[in-house]
Parts: sequence; C-alpha cells; structure tokens
Amino acid sequence: MAELEGSIQYLPGMGPKRAALLQKELGIESLSDLIHLYPYRYIDRSGIYPIAQVSGESMVQIRAKVVSRNLYAKGGEVIDPGKGVSELRRASRLSVIVEDSSARMEMVFFKGIKWNWERLSPGSEYIFFGKVSEFNGRLNMVHPEVDKPQESSAPSGLSGVYPSTEALKNSGVTTKLMSRAVGAALSLCLREVQETLPDYVLRDNSLVPLRKALYDIHFPKDNACLEQARYRLKFEELFLLQLSLLKQKYVRSRGSKGFLMPRVGEDFNACYKALPYSLTSAQQRVIKEIRADLMSGKQMNRLLQGDVGSGKTLVAVLCCLLAKGNGYQSCILAPTEVLAHQHFVSVSKFLAPTGSRCALLTGSSSGPERREALAGILDGSIDILIGTHALLEDCVVWKNLGLAIVDEQHRFGVEQRSKLWKKNSIAPHILVMTATPIPRTLAMTLYGDLDVSVIDELPPGRKPVRTICIDESRKEAMYKFIREQIAAGRQAFVVYPLIFESEKLDIKNLEQGYEDIVAAFPLPDYKVAIVHGQQSNEQKSFNMEAFVAGRADILVSTTVIEVGVDVPNASVMVIMSAQRFGLSQLHQLRGRVGRGAEEAWCILVKDQKTGKEAQSRLDLMCSTQDGFELSEQDLRMRGPGDLEGTAQSGLPIRLSIASLSKDSAILSRARDYASKVLERDPEISSAENYPLRRELQKDKFKIEDFSRIS
Ligand code: ADP
Ligand code: MG
Repeated sequence: MAELEGSIQYLPGMGPKRAALLQKELGIESLSDLIHLYPYRYIDRSGIYPIAQVSGESMVQIRAKVVSRNLYAKGGEVIDPGKGVSELRRASRLSVIVEDSSARMEMVFFKGIKWNWERLSPGSEYIFFGKVSEFNGRLNMVHPEVDKPQESSAPSGLSGVYPSTEALKNSGVTTKLMSRAVGAALSLCLREVQETLPDYVLRDNSLVPLRKALYDIHFPKDNACLEQARYRLKFEELFLLQLSLLKQKYVRSRGSKGFLMPRVGEDFNACYKALPYSLTSAQQRVIKEIRADLMSGKQMNRLLQGDVGSGKTLVAVLCCLLAKGNGYQSCILAPTEVLAHQHFVSVSKFLAPTGSRCALLTGSSSGPERREALAGILDGSIDILIGTHALLEDCVVWKNLGLAIVDEQHRFGVEQRSKLWKKNSIAPHILVMTATPIPRTLAMTLYGDLDVSVIDELPPGRKPVRTICIDESRKEAMYKFIREQIAAGRQAFVVYPLIFESEKLDIKNLEQGYEDIVAAFPLPDYKVAIVHGQQSNEQKSFNMEAFVAGRADILVSTTVIEVGVDVPNASVMVIMSAQRFGLSQLHQLRGRVGRGAEEAWCILVKDQKTGKEAQSRLDLMCSTQDGFELSEQDLRMRGPGDLEGTAQSGLPIRLSIASLSKDSAILSRARDYASKVLERDPEISSAENYPLRRELQKDKFKIEDFSRIS
C-alpha cells in the first residue's frame, strides 16, 4: 500500500509546485488518485498525415523537417537573434516553417520560444502533433507537441487527454506531462492495486481485471482494449453504487417495523364514491402499490413521480384516508405557504363527504388557529395536518402520526425531513411526491434504495398546451392576444426569471416588468396582481388569492408560482426571458395552465441574446409536452456532470467515469446484477465477497444521509 499512497510530487516533470496545484485544482494527491484520474477523450496518434492532406480544425500528427524560422516582437517587427540573448527575450512569437514530401506548414509558438528556437534548427526532423487551424488562408499549428521521431516516448496509438484547468495549463501541466507522470505512477504502483470485484463477478459479467483496466484506460493499445477497460470501470462504479443503495434498502426493510394498516375504512370509500370522475388507471395502480406497503408491516419509503396535473393530490388524500381507516393521523408537507394553502383548500373539498378533518399550519397561522391545530393533533380530532416547515417544530406533538407525505421533495432538505422522523418512536410511512420527472437512469441511482411509483397518465380531457416561442420585439402582438383571452373570460400568468444574484435587483427587474404589463393593461379595464419572494406572507396570499378567485386578470410573478398552484381558469402562461430557464423549470411553469377544459397557451419570450443551447431548449419545449422526455433530454443536453454538480440533483456521490445519461444500459445491468448478489448474500458477508465488503466501507459509499429520505 505504501506506493499507492505516495505523493505525486516525485514523478517525472512534477515537483512540489505542480503537485500542490494538482491537489488544489483536481484533488489529486497520491499516486492512487492519479491513476484513477481517467482521460476524458483520446486522440488517435497511430497515423502520420502528409501535410497536403491536412485540413483545418482537426487534430493530426505530421512528420516534417524544419525549413526556416523567424522571431517576431510584439508589433510584428522581425528580430535578429544573432544580436544576442536579450534580443531573443524580446520575441513574442516564433514561426517555424516545416515541410514533408507533400507540402509546407507553419508552426507557431507564443511560449517556450527560447527552447523551441534552440531545438527546431533548420534541417532537423520532428513529429508534430496538434490542432490545425487556418490563419490568413494558410494552415498552421499553434503550440504543437514536438517529439523526435526516434524518441521512444513519442506516443503512438491512442493517447489520452486528461482533465485540466486554466491554472494547470499555465503552470505547464500539459497532457504530455500528465501522461508521463501517469505512466511512471503505474509502473511504481500498479502491482499494489487490489482487485475490487470477486472473481465470479468478473466472470459473470465478462470484465477484465482491474489492473489491466487501469493500465488500458491510460494507455490503450487499440480501441477494443479501451472499450473493455472502460466497460469494466463503469460497470464497477455503477455496480458498487447500486449494491450499497440496495443493501441499505434491504437492511431497512428488514430492520424497520412499520405501522400495520390492513383496513380500507369508511372515509376512503366515502371520498372515493363522491368523486366526480373516476381514477385514472395510473392512479389506481399507484394506490394499490401503496396499499401493499401499508399492509406489509414494514415502513414504506416510496417516491411518487407524476407529471404536473397528473393528480397526485388525490392520491395523497386517499392515502391519508387509508391511514385514518386504521386509526392513524397523516401530514402533508408542502414547500411553500401558497402551496400549503392550496393543498388545504383542495384536501378540504375531498374530505367533505367523509368524517375526516384536516387543518392548516404554517408560519403565518394566527395564534388561535395554531392553538386549535396543535390541540387537535394532540387529541386526535384532526386527522390530516397540512403545512410547511412549521409542522416540523417541536411544539407539534402527534397523537399517532402514521403517514407523512412530502410534496415536491426537491425543495426539502434531508435534515428537515428527518426531523419529522425523529419525533416518532416508530417511523411513519413516508411518501415523497415529486412533479419533476426524473429520468429512469437517474431515479435508479438517486433513489436506489426507495420504491418508486409513477403516475404516467394524465386525467382524460386535458388539452395540450400550445407552446410557441417569440422574440421580445413581438411583445405588442402578444399583449393583443392576451387582451383577447381576458375578454373571453380567461386569465394569464406572466413570469419573470430570477436574474441577478441579489434579490433586490431581481425584484427591481420584476417591478419593471410589472410596470410594463400595467402600462399595457391599464385600470380600470384590467387588474394585474404581483407576487414575489420579498413580500410578506399576508401580501403574497392576498395577491395570490386575488388571482385564484378571478379578481385579477394577470398575475405577474417570479417563479414562486412554479410549484403546484392550481388556477383552472388561467389559459395563458407567458415566460419572459425564457432562455434563462432550465427545461424542467419551463415545464413546471407550463404545467400551471391547461388544467381547465379550455385551450391553453404557453408563450416563451426570448431576448436577442439567446444562445444556441438555450434556443434548443426552447425548441424542445415547443416540440413536446412529455415531462419524462424533456427530462431525459435535459440530462442529455446538460450532461450529468452539470446535473450531478447541482444541489438539485442531490446525487450522493461523484461518478468518476460512468455517465448517467449515456450509460443507462450498463446501469440497468449493474443494478440487476447487484440485486442478484444481494439475494445470495444479503449481508455481503461471505468470504468470496470480501472485496465488495471492503469497497463498500469506503467513504464514497457512506451515503446514508442521502438515501434516508425520512
Ligand atoms: P398534481 O399531480 O400536479 O399535483 P393535481 O393533484 O393538482 O395534480 O391534479 C390536477 C387536477 O386534476 C386537479 O384539479 C384534480 O382535481 C384533477 N384530477 C385528479 N385526478 C383526476 C382524475 N382521475 N380525473 C379527472 N381529474 C382529476
Ligand atoms: Mg400538486
């Protein structure tokens, strides 16, 4: 083990300064870290091109003789190095003309001028490797890698390109240097690397041994070799991740008792019978899945995914009524006051034909309201408590909480949820509902230890939201359209993005927008309400209510309305500076309309400055309404690197080689195989599984905090 943990600073070309920088920039300290830093792409250096066949913007390797060279000072003045070293120092550019039997080409250096001047003497022959660009109609290479043809270290075949940063590049940590250092590190410590997977796992999955994979990922002989190495490392990464998540799930489902809720109860049936519509088959399926959990005697930990408008609230209510039928209380946690309030209103409606009672508790509940709710929870006269974080406060003491439903889990911290959990001696069943459709591959990883239910069907009769993207310059035409909609009795949302870091500036931006809208929709013909995060809760609720009740025609807001707000009469969703929003946010916003029977529109208003990537997001929005498709595309466009980095994804570990968007096939295989392994050896305690046991003990798999959603 000694070598593996050794410092990288003694590797060729490294030294203490570069080693320190690598640690700072990429977290690479030991030889082991270094050999696990994989190239992110490869360049084919197997061929040598005749200069005449080279074209612009490609990476090529040529073999050529130096014909002539020139040094230039800043202004373009030619420097004569014959006049001494001080002249050479003045040079800011070295141009070297080289030729092979087919043509000539220019090599340009802005750095390392002295050294290159000295070695690139006329008549000498070198291998040049780099990116060809076109300058003034002629091809050249800027800062090519230069090697002597007979130098054995001149790379051949596929050569890896390593992750780098500006600071690393500036201090001379080139791909070539990295490659040399990795080569040296491998020869020092590869034999110490311990296999992480048992033999039978390698055999079953046709994987190459770890040492071979580690060597080949850095220095592949050919593409086949590289593919095998990559597959092995990706499989290992995803397999161990799934193994650790599934193991936790196993431990929990075995260890944690849950309240037994075998009965359906009168209230469930009363609510069900009184529904003005029938459940969609997806809703029915999900309720069956949840019911099975409630009857299992184990604690439920289930994620309920369903696109906006798919009817999750009703499912939540029916679950609460199942709990009630067995004598338990429930709570519904919402991320915002507006949403808690709205849930309260719709849950109350569903409860009307039943004997169940619900109450609302938020930060802005009045003294008497609060006292009444708290008393009702304690004595059991309230069956369902709906609210915000306020539910997690210590003063909330339950008679017998049996089920906790968390709406929009992305907005709730893990710690907050676990507060609810700690209050009970037996944990309540947990149902987490999210409207953010998570791609399957991501869900499998994020929620590897949870059960997932999906409502993949919207209630019948929903009209698709017609989505168009317009330029800002066409605002007037859009206003005209909105006036027509209002004249027909409809309402419109106008949403502004959060643009600036400071909330104050955002509000200013929003207020400017509000004034524009008010100018275009003046009193007394039109009423415009505004809602944003800086308003007091009363102000927010008051304005929101004005819109919900139809007293205001237009609601101008930031994204506070993104989550859950239900105004069936609203038929237009205008999203200003739409290019600034992410796909999932755009989709959530669009989901606010099209909830009534009327035709609905979503108008994406983009600025002049809309970039290519943003434009493709907007195009995608116009082309599909399917939230799952959008989120798959989102993952693909952003790349999981981005997604994994964001707090939103909540991904518990950093993947070093596998990609959640590209490697979904390997992920499913790894997951299936992990559950097979666990079936045979649930504790991972057998002798042959020792390597797995050792791997799972590593810090990177200590992710309880995450996986425990409750
Ligand atoms: P979300 O999943 O976004 O929370 P909601 O629960 O707010 O969706 O439901 C959206 C609307 O659809 C509500 O007005 C609700 O009453 C209605 N709804 C729910 N289930 C059905 C159904 N099976 N048939 C018709 N309408 C339904
Ligand atoms: Mg909802």
